[in-house]
Amino acid sequence: MKIGIIGSGYVGLVTGACFADLGNDVICVDNDKAKIASLKKGVMPIFEPALEETVLRNVKAGRLIFTSDIKTAAMASSIIFISVATPPKSNGEPDLSQVENVSRQLALCFDASYKLVVEKSTVPIRTGEWIEHTLKVHAKKTARFDVASNPEFLREGSAINDFMHPDRIVIGVESKKAKDTLLELYKPIKAPIIVTDIKSAEIIKHASNSYLATKISFINAISNICDKTGADIVKVAEGMGMDKRIGRAFLNAGAGWGGSCFPKDVAAFIHIAEKTGYDFKFLKEVLRINEEQKKNVLEKIRNGLWILKGKTIAVLGLAFKPNTDDIRSAVSVDLIDMLKKEGANIRVYDPKAAAKAKTILKGVVFCKDAYEAARNSDCIVVMTEWPEFSELDFNRIKKLVRQPFVVDARNLYEPQSLKKLGFKYVGMGRR
Ligand code: NAD
Repeated sequence: MKIGIIGSGYVGLVTGACFADLGNDVICVDNDKAKIASLKKGVMPIFEPALEETVLRNVKAGRLIFTSDIKTAAMASSIIFISVATPPKSNGEPDLSQVENVSRQLALCFDASYKLVVEKSTVPIRTGEWIEHTLKVHAKKTARFDVASNPEFLREGSAINDFMHPDRIVIGVESKKAKDTLLELYKPIKAPIIVTDIKSAEIIKHASNSYLATKISFINAISNICDKTGADIVKVAEGMGMDKRIGRAFLNAGAGWGGSCFPKDVAAFIHIAEKTGYDFKFLKEVLRINEEQKKNVLEKIRNGLWILKGKTIAVLGLAFKPNTDDIRSAVSVDLIDMLKKEGANIRVYDPKAAAKAKTILKGVVFCKDAYEAARNSDCIVVMTEWPEFSELDFNRIKKLVRQPFVVDARNLYEPQSLKKLGFKYVGMGRR
C-alpha cells in the first residue's frame, strides 16, 4: 500500500519504518528540515533499538523515503497517518495546532483520488470530527476522503518490537472503506484487532495511559506506607502481582512517572473530562501522588545529607526510562532542578540521553561514565534503571565517593548487597 506519514518523530519514524518493513511503500514527512537531511544521510535523529537497521534496510529496498514536502506524500499516498506532537498547554489541555495545521495542508493537496487520513497522534475525543471538518473546509469539492483513528501504544525503548507485536490494534472508523483499508494494512501483524467508532478509539488511548499511570501512582502510594513501616514494596508488589486480576506489570515503585506521554496524557484526560462536565478527581489525585513522589526522592537525599548546599550529588540516568534518549518530562530533570535550587553541585551520567539533556540542563557536570559521576560525591541517586547500572562495581565506587550513600529511586539494587559493602542505602519503599 502507499502510505504517507506526517511527523517523523518517535512514533512517525517507527511507524513508517515498520510499515515499509511489511512491504508497503512509505513516505515519511517532517517539517524539521535538519531531521529529514539527517535521515537522508542514514543518521537517526533519535536512539531507539533496532530502528537504524530497519530504516536503512527499507531505504535500500526502495520502500522508504524521506521528504519535508507534505505535498509529495499527500499526492502519492492513499493512507496518510498524522503523527505530529500534541504537547500540553499550561492548563493541561493538549495543543492540537500541529494536527490542525497538517490537516489543512493535506486538504490543499488532495485531488479526486480516495485518501484515508488516520490520526496516530494521541488526541482528545472529537479530534476526528475536527480533522474531518478541516479537510472539508479546505479541500476541493471533488476530494474523496475518510478519517480514522488508530492510536499508537508502542513504548520508547522497545518501539519496533511493540509495533510489530502489539497486544492489540485499535481501529476507530465510520465507514466500511476505512475499516477494510486498515484491516488490510494490518493483516501481516498477528494481533487482536478491535474495530470501533472514532470517539471510542480516541478514549481508549487516553484511558489506557491514565490507567497505567494510576497503577504506578498506586504502588508508589503503597511504597510510602512501606517506608513508614519497614515493609518491602518489592515483595508487596510480587505478592499482589501474582493475582492474575492485578498482574505484576506497572507495579514497580520508583521516583514517579515521567516521559513524553503519561504526564501530558493524564493532564489531557483530566481536561477532556472537565470539558464534558465531569470532574475527574480520581485522576487529579493520581497526578498529585506523582508530584509528591518526586519530592519524596529529594526528601530521602536530604534526610541522608542534612544540608544540601555545597554537597555533590551524582545523578545516574537522565532518560525517563531505559533504552531511550528521550528526556521530555523526565523526573530526573525535575529532581536536578530541585537539587540546584538547594545549592547542590550536580554530576550526571546517562548512556544515551546526554546529548539531548545538554540542551536543557545547564550548570551540571556531564560525565563519561557512572564512575566519573560518582567521584567525590556525597550521594548517588539512580534515576533510570539502565541495565549497565545494575552491573556497577560498588567496591570501586566506594573508593571514589566522599560519602558512601545511595538513593535508589528505581529500586534497582538489593539493599543488603550495598549495605554489606558499607553503603548507606535508601530505596523507594524498601531499605
Ligand atoms: P515527536 O515530537 O518525536 O514527533 C513529532 C514530529 O512531527 C516532529 O519531528 C516534528 O518536527 C513533526 N512535525 C510537526 N509539525 C509538522 C508538520 N506540520 N509537518 C510535518 N511534520 C511536523 O513526537 P512523538 O513522541 O513521535 O509523538 C507523536 C504523537 O504520538 C503524540 O501525540 C504522542 O502523544 C503520541 N504517542 C507517542 C508515543 C511515544 O512513546 N513517544 C507513544 C504513543 C503515542
